[in-house]
Amino acid sequence: MFGYVIDSATAVQVNLKPKMPSPTCDPHQNGIDKFIVCQEELMALFAICPACCEKSDSRIVQQEGTFVKIEQVCACGYQRFWQNQPILHRNMPTCNLLLSGAIHFSGCLATQTLRMMTLFGLQCISASTFFRHQRRYTIPVIIQAWQNEQAKNFSDLKAMDGGLVVAGDCR
Ligand SMILES: [Zn+2]
Repeated sequence: MFGYVIDSATAVQVNLKPKMPSPTCDPHQNGIDKFIVCQEELMALFAICPACCEKSDSRIVQQEGTFVKIEQVCACGYQRFWQNQPILHRNMPTCNLLLSGAIHFSGCLATQTLRMMTLFGLQCISASTFFRHQRRYTIPVIIQAWQNEQAKNFSDLKAMDGGLVVAGDCR
């Protein structure tokens, strides 16, 4: 869903739609929208110092898969760091793990999917990162979800009136 935040004062002045809920960055929810942004347009956002409105220097100081961190420095002394996504435990960028999960849960072949992204020029995780995520996170999550579902089914059956009658022909 596309949306942007309008502060309440602006909404009153120009009589726009009421304030929309701001997007959250909950690492446990992958429903938040992501956008593909070209590097030139991204760096243009850091070309002007927000403190003195003069031209400032900016550069990419860290890139890891889908993660990018930019430093902006101005002659007036202003400095800030900006990153394109939240970080999970062990300094793991959220979207790197979400991308591994999306590839795994969709059934797509990881090497083909990553090759397609690389051809497109999209900065993404390596195949070895995908397989590490698969081993440490996405496979354990699938097993846990299956066990939870099984436990729920057993619990529902036990709570059923009259119990469950299971029959077979011994084959
Ligand atoms: Zn400045």
